[in-house]
Parts: sequence; C-alpha cells; structure tokens
Amino acid sequence: MIEKRQFYINGAWVDPAQPRDHQVIDPSTEEPCAVISVAGEADVNDAVAAAKAAFPDWMATPPEERIAYVEKILEIYAERREDIAQAVSTEMGAPIDLARNSQWGAGFAHTTNFLNAAKEFKFTRPLGDHAPDDRIVYEGFGVCAMITPWNWPLNQITLKVIAGLIAGCTMVLKPSEESPLNAMIFAEVIDAAGLPKGVFNLVNGDGATTGTALTGHEDVDMVSFTGSTRAGTAIAQNAAKTLKKVHLELGGKGANVIFADADDKAVKRGVLHMMNNTGQSCNAPSRMLVQREIYDAAVEEAAAVANAVTVGSAHDEGKHIGPVVNAAQFDKIQGLIQKGIDEGARLVAGGPGRPEGFNRGYFVRPTVFADANNQMTIAREEIFGPVLTIMPFDTEEEAIEIANDTPYGLTNYVQSTDGARRNRMARALRSGMVEMNGKSRGAGSPFGGMKASGLGREGGVWGLEDFMEVKAVSGWDSDVEPA
Ligand code: NAD
Repeated sequence: MIEKRQFYINGAWVDPAQPRDHQVIDPSTEEPCAVISVAGEADVNDAVAAAKAAFPDWMATPPEERIAYVEKILEIYAERREDIAQAVSTEMGAPIDLARNSQWGAGFAHTTNFLNAAKEFKFTRPLGDHAPDDRIVYEGFGVCAMITPWNWPLNQITLKVIAGLIAGCTMVLKPSEESPLNAMIFAEVIDAAGLPKGVFNLVNGDGATTGTALTGHEDVDMVSFTGSTRAGTAIAQNAAKTLKKVHLELGGKGANVIFADADDKAVKRGVLHMMNNTGQSCNAPSRMLVQREIYDAAVEEAAAVANAVTVGSAHDEGKHIGPVVNAAQFDKIQGLIQKGIDEGARLVAGGPGRPEGFNRGYFVRPTVFADANNQMTIAREEIFGPVLTIMPFDTEEEAIEIANDTPYGLTNYVQSTDGARRNRMARALRSGMVEMNGKSRGAGSPFGGMKASGLGREGGVWGLEDFMEVKAVSGWDSDVEPA
C-alpha cells in the first residue's frame, strides 16, 4: 500500500496539521491502493499563505524566466512518464496504454502548447497608434485555487497549473481525492524543476472539507475548477462571498449529428469516441443524432461496434476499456441504464450488470440505446460511462433544435460531406466547441463550454489570458521602454 500522507507547501513536503486518512481505491480490483490525508482548514491556510507570500516576486519575475521554469518542468515531466501513467492507471482505471499515451500525453501537449503561446505573447503592448503613451500590461491574477477531477487528471492539472505559472500566478492545487497520486508526482516534478518556494502548493482532500476551505478563503483571488456542474454551482456561490474570479469547466451532453451524406466511418468513429476512457469525458459525443435515411443501418452498426469493444483491467496492456472510477459512479451508471430501459429506449448493446466474466471491479458493459427521444433521462443527464444514446432526425433544422435542447453546451459534433452544411451547423450549435468529420481541434485551440458547461476557456493563448489581469496604463515613458 502506498502511503502519501504529506502535502507540498512552501517548497517542502509537510505533514497534515491533524491526521485524517483517506483511502484511494483501485477500481480494477476494488482494493485500496494508497492512503492520503484530507487537508483541514489549518493546512489550507498554510498553503494559501505560502502562495500569497510568493506572489509579488513571482509576478515580477520576467516572463522569459517563468517560461524557462516551465521548459524545465516539461523536461522532467517527460522523464516521469511511466510513474505518472502507472499512478493514473491504478487510481482511476485508465488502461495502462491509454494512461501512457493519451492521459500522460494530454499534459505534455498542453504544456508544449502553452510554451508556444507564451513565447508569442506580448505581456506589455501598446493600446494603439492614437495613444502612443498608453500600455496594456498583462499580469498574474493572483493566488489561485485549482480544483481538478479524476477523469483526465494531467490534462486538467496542466491546463491550470502551467497556464497559471506562465501568467505569473501562484497557486494551491487540490486534485481529486479519487486520483491524488499522479498529482503528487506532478508536485515532485515541480519541486525538481526548482521553482521558488510557495509558487506551487498542493493539498489533498475532498470537496466538502478541503475544497470548501479553499474556495471560500479570503486570500484566494481566483478559483479555477473542473468537475461536475453540481460542484461548480456550489463553488461559485462560496467564492462569491469574497468576490473571486471563478473559472468553471463543467459537464456536457454533446450531440453527434450524423447526416445521411456522412463518410462511411462516421458511426464507428462516434461509438468509439463515446467509449474512449470508458465514457468518462465531459466532451463525449453521448447523444448520436442520425438522419432517418441511414438510421436503421447506423443503429445496427453502432451495436456491432459496441459489442466488439472489450473490457479489462487497467493494469493489462491493450486497447480495451477499463473500469469506471468508483462504486458511486458504477451505481449511478447502472441506475441510468435501468432508467433508459424503463423509459422505453431500445437496448441494442450491453445493458445492466458487469460484463461476462467479471464479478469484481467497477466494470460496465459498453451499452447502446436506440429509438430514444431527447426528453428521456439518458438523453438529458450526463452519464459519464460507456453508454451511447441514439435518436433519429429528419431535417437539419430539427437536428439543430435537438442538439441545442440541453442545459449543456460543451462540444458538439457534425458528420457530413456537404461543406456548406457543416459551416451552417458550426454556427448554429450552442457549444464552446464544434468538431466536424472526425477532425480534432488544432494545438492551442481553446477548450470550454457555454451554458451549464461552464465559464471561461482553457488552453493556448485564451488559457493564458484567463489567469491574467489586464492593466491599462497611460503616461508610459516610451523612451525608457519602447513598444
Ligand atoms: P466533482 O465535481 O465531484 O469533483 C471534482 C473536483 O471538485 C474534485 O477535486 C472534488 O474534490 C472537488 N469538489 C467537489 N465538490 C466540491 C465543493 N463543493 N467545493 C470545492 N470542491 C469540490 O466531479 P468528478 O466526479 O470528480 O468529475 C466528473 C465531472 O467533471 C463530470 O461531470 C464531468 O463532465 C466534469 N468534467 C468537466 C470537464 C470540463 O472541462 N468541462 C472536464 C472533466 C470533467
């Protein structure tokens, strides 16, 4: 059993003020794999105090130096790849190959993209030719509380921590209590990169105790949160009391609109995208809308693709999907599958219970429902498991209406060989991102949602700006420091 009871505060690993253990469970075996501590108010106070004390110097550190620290972090992050992958795989159940590649890789890619954006970024820039003595100065927002989930842990940690570091912020990271081990390795990476003490701090703990203490702390200037809409709402309310800036990346219920003229890989691509990471992605294309002409064939194909998806332990190599993260998610998903059946959707693949051959581990059968309508619970609620809901549509207008009829607005998907239609759809869909014909968004593209999917954007130049204040200055001496 791994014992990791310490927090990283002010450049050192320290014991909790008061011991309170939390067990981390391996979802492939349902056995405890590690024990960590839950930080209380005293630990949070220490971490925030360290970040507050470090802020003036870090903010004043020239951007080139901050960038150089991040380059060092990237180098060490690459060296720790296998440790990080093993931790992710054990604690949240991503199969080891997925953990080594997409999970670890997301952190590597985001850090690289931030470095590229930062090198182009003008931290001090003129307002315009009409005001030669004006400058716009971008500077770190302040002390940030960063609260992350377990599903793509390094993705979310780097989107916040790396952007914050480059922007000139200091921070306290609270990773999910379901997946703290990878975050602690990330803290070791930062430590090895030699950042000034107090710039980056890590406390572990749950939402109710540690999260609440952080998001209500009077010395925290900004909260950057990724997780459920439920927690996002609670955090925004708690943070409002001290007027913090709040950045929220929340849930989704993406539509994947497949027109009759879609390419012949569209259905398969959509099903596999849904099943990736065992369906535990906020941007999963969980509602497949299929045009009537190809509907029956698409349902048949989707069922066949889902039936061919294999399920296995996260510790085994291969392209299978792993378990879902914990007992609560397992029970929630089972309940929603049953609800789909009870509300009259047609089950065409998978269903309730564990896959054949499993009597332990939080394994879920890759499941597909057809003939659903958009008012059913399985079409409205984020399931966060390997469950796809298919429904038919006739016209482009109807597809837009169904796709937008959801509280969420994170990512929508369109499959069509008609370019004019794709462009119309991209404009009509109410979501922060629209991905079409299986083309993933380019490096440095902003990630974030509309409506109940959140506030703000992460990644690339938008992700940097989100962690910055914009200061307007007049009377600048252009001789001393020209534009
Ligand atoms: P969660 O909201 O329960 O937990 C996320 C994090 O918030 C954890 O660190 C948790 O300890 C903390 N937390 C929970 N309640 C809190 C509170 N009241 N105050 C402060 N902190 C609190 O979510 P989860 O189950 O860990 O993650 C799954 C959810 O995250 C899904 O709904 C998913 O869609 C969403 N998600 C969104 C994005 C995005 O970028 N939009 C990315 C990944 C996950």
